[in-house]
Amino acid sequence: MELDIEIHLDDLPACAGCAGPPLLTARFPHSWLNTRGEEVKGVREVALCPQCDRGSPAADELQALFAVDEQVGLANAEAFAVLIGAWLEERRQSARDSHRLEMEWDQWRQSDL
Ligand SMILES: [Zn+2]
Repeated sequence: MELDIEIHLDDLPACAGCAGPPLLTARFPHSWLNTRGEEVKGVREVALCPQCDRGSPAADELQALFAVDEQVGLANAEAFAVLIGAWLEERRQSARDSHRLEMEWDQWRQSDL
């Protein structure tokens, strides 16, 4: 997996969804194409929240790992990294989908003018 991902476990901002404490946040480079087809680069930060991040396979597994072992150490770092990668992939997929919907909306408005 790409390891341009920064994981934060301390001093986390409150969850944007429920204002509760997240388990961790992950920051990773993120790029997308704007409506003119230009690549836009940025950094995305996502929080793993015990209340809001439920029901997707990777989020559930990550939370299960935290429930068993609150300290991420050398023994479980590999499993942790794999799960973080899978979880971020799920989040990226959903980000891409919502962005695609925005683009379709723009195209629809332009064709209506
Ligand atoms: Zn939340």
